Amino acid sequence: MSALPQGDRWVVLKFGGTSVSRRHRWDTIGKLAKKRADESGGRILVVVSALSGVTNELLAISEGASDSAQRVAALVGRHRDFCIELGLDPERVLGERLALLEGLLEDPRAPARSLDWQAEVLAQGELLSSTLGAAYLAGPRGLDFGWMDARDWLLSAPAGENQSAWSRRLSVNCQWQAQGDFKARFDAQPQRMLITQGFIAAHAEGGTAILGRGGSDTSAAYFGALLLASRVEIWTDVPGMFSANPKEVPDARLLTRLDYYEAQEIATTGAKVLHPRAIKPCRDAGVPMAILDTERPHMPGTWIDGSAAPVPGVKAISRRNGIVLVSMEGIGMWQQVGFLADVFALFKKHGLSVDLIGSAETNVTVSLDPSENLVSTDVLNALSADLAQICKVKVIVPCAAITLVGRGMRSLLHKLSDVWATFGKERVHMISQSSNDLNLTFVIDEAAADGLLPILHEELIDSGALPVASSDVFGVRWREITGDIRPRPTPWWKSQREKLLALAWEGTPRYVYHLPTVRERARALAAISAIDRRYYAIKANPHPAILRTLVEEGFGLECVSLGEIRHVLASVPGLSPQQVLFTPSFAPRSEYTEALALGVTVTVDNVELLQRWPDIFRGRQLWLRIDLGRGDGHHAKVTTGGKDSKFGLPTARVEEFMQLAQALEVRIVGLHAHLGSGVGNREHWRLMYDEMAGFARRIGSVRTIDIGGGLPIPYSADDEPFDLEDWAEGLAELKRVHPQFELVIEPGRYLAAEGGVLLASVTQVVEKEGIRRVGLDAGMHTLLRPALYDAWHDIDNLSRQGGYADAEFDVVGPICESSDIFGRGRRLPASTAADDVIVISDAGAYGYSMASHYNLRGLPAQDILDDAG
Ligand code: ADP
Ligand code: ASP
Ligand code: MG
Repeated sequence: MSALPQGDRWVVLKFGGTSVSRRHRWDTIGKLAKKRADESGGRILVVVSALSGVTNELLAISEGASDSAQRVAALVGRHRDFCIELGLDPERVLGERLALLEGLLEDPRAPARSLDWQAEVLAQGELLSSTLGAAYLAGPRGLDFGWMDARDWLLSAPAGENQSAWSRRLSVNCQWQAQGDFKARFDAQPQRMLITQGFIAAHAEGGTAILGRGGSDTSAAYFGALLLASRVEIWTDVPGMFSANPKEVPDARLLTRLDYYEAQEIATTGAKVLHPRAIKPCRDAGVPMAILDTERPHMPGTWIDGSAAPVPGVKAISRRNGIVLVSMEGIGMWQQVGFLADVFALFKKHGLSVDLIGSAETNVTVSLDPSENLVSTDVLNALSADLAQICKVKVIVPCAAITLVGRGMRSLLHKLSDVWATFGKERVHMISQSSNDLNLTFVIDEAAADGLLPILHEELIDSGALPVASSDVFGVRWREITGDIRPRPTPWWKSQREKLLALAWEGTPRYVYHLPTVRERARALAAISAIDRRYYAIKANPHPAILRTLVEEGFGLECVSLGEIRHVLASVPGLSPQQVLFTPSFAPRSEYTEALALGVTVTVDNVELLQRWPDIFRGRQLWLRIDLGRGDGHHAKVTTGGKDSKFGLPTARVEEFMQLAQALEVRIVGLHAHLGSGVGNREHWRLMYDEMAGFARRIGSVRTIDIGGGLPIPYSADDEPFDLEDWAEGLAELKRVHPQFELVIEPGRYLAAEGGVLLASVTQVVEKEGIRRVGLDAGMHTLLRPALYDAWHDIDNLSRQGGYADAEFDVVGPICESSDIFGRGRRLPASTAADDVIVISDAGAYGYSMASHYNLRGLPAQDILDDAG
């Protein structure tokens, strides 16, 4: 990079289609250009796209659409209207250009649609928008702006030997090594700020050349490289490159900093926000790039340059549609010298470039990018015919390629088990890992890819493969930007520091439960009118104070063992057995007999139970748990439906069960199935409820439908609080359709988790080969969820509350198990030291209740706080 004096440097600003289609955006363009000029003391080149949608129209015209005349007329009308919106005289500003556009239909080249004519047609969009913009910025806005024809400055580069005629004219590359006095001529332009077109260049053989769809980014990059600009800013409709297309994955994270190579990979594998050809010119010339949002100009955006410190991990997941797979089958092709050469020669002959390759003993499968010359199916037919001479060919279309991009993919494989499992449910045609270790691609049917990205993105975050905690790279979520997010409530313990420290002083590890928080959650559920009855699943936390609190709030208690039943009857004075549900799984006979004798409501979930112990159940009223065959949970180990789950009677056996029940005069009065939360997937959830109601009606005696618990809580800052309102609306809908059934829920976690924290003391802080570990006196014996489910719990240093969390630690326990880890790479104050009190959040559910004596370390203490303060 040359060391040009700052005042001599250019800043290149590129504005995409949506950024130039409205008047207020042109005001922003003017302001930004002026601001950049003032800040840098240098000069500004603005590169613009056509107004949004215009290139699509021009493309249709260039391809000879039958209604081309109407399309031209509409384009003329749209540009005239926009002139008026900008307060400009359409005739004076655009008269000539619009006449030229109309004239192209009468051009002698038009009937044959020669490629140079097509280029001319396509170029009109950018020529119009830049002309409009220059007139507005220099006119009403009074800025020192001049207009330039990009074709006087950018020249197509010599085409590669195998490039098709089409791409030689309509998808060209340009030269970006400045020749002669390029910059001096540029500098000699009288205005301080210039505006020109993206997407177009001069063709070396005369006429106009086109840079390919989305090519305005590339134009800006060429200018940036040719001028050795201080930077190239790509202004668009999102504030940067994200970890996935934000329009498809609302939880996608802004990537604040990338190196050229990762950005290149993300762009190449499908992130439309930056044209893949735009990076190399800037990289070669050492010109940094930024991606910014015209509507949100204050946001920092994505910064791409050569100095970003590499952060290992997945940075993005992208998707490309329209992938063509060509599978070539041949006997004994393995080790047959020259087979691949023969095959690839044919791809070359047809001007097709191969992207991914998979090979086996008798099969080679390759993918072709959805390049524009593939649009013509003739190419594929011709290729297939040629290939058929040497092997058996199968073309698989349409496919989608889903790619994980990031440094060190190979070393991340162990974190990708959920991702593999998700792909395992689809038909994966091909898996390919790039030799630069920057990507891992799965090719599946295009239809199967719909809706998959949000799931994969979440799995990548949950597994730690996409290290969102690395604030050097990852910024805000798209949803936060659009305001489509509800923040997590401030945890109660933040205002209880002194009390908690005093309790910790009495001994750690120690659970502390805050009853006001439990009450708050209980009341939120009680306010949902569609729910007729509520039970608390006490396995989450059977502390007597919590049980009493929830019974006072009108909850019944759901137990899964006789031990739990006895415990609730002993802990809650005056509790009637009618308030107790018993939902065991594979329990021994004695538990059923005793539960029935106590008069609690018993749920059964298999036929074999009735067959084996008919006398226990004869003449009883029972609830039946069915398995609707679909399960969902935050981890495979807590999935509660489907073939692999031990819970529930499969729907196929309901008939058989009912026959036996009738013979035993058993009345099934309640039906239970876990529906999960239903938020964001209401349709699927409603179908499940309809199915339950269908069974309930067939059984005849069912009065109650229990949809289980399963309401999530926001364990990490990445999780959004459960949308109770949306859920309540969904329930009201279920209730409207099936009003005859009493609706019952039985949450556990939702009520208890956020009300509890685990306090622990730091035993030792140890550094080993660059990893710093904070050791606690609590471990997996105290709180098992992280070790068992890889669950996330926020971890804070209570002793240094308010201190800046400026260092990363692995937080571990004292158990002799390598899985005894509460969290890796957690940010805590660097000063964290022995005897500090650590608070582990959201430990009120499945904390103490899953604690063990393992290593004979003893059980933790428990305390109750019951004040609002
Ligand atoms: P422009 O017209 O400004 O050139 P584009 O439509 O070409 O804008 O590119 C911006 C769009 O790119 C965004 O609206 C977004 O939907 C899409 N996109 C796809 N993948 C990504 C990603 N990973 N990060 C950001 N945007 C992406
Ligand atoms: N207008 C062109 C297109 O729509 C170029 C661009 O916007 O980048 O493809
Ligand atoms: Mg674009």
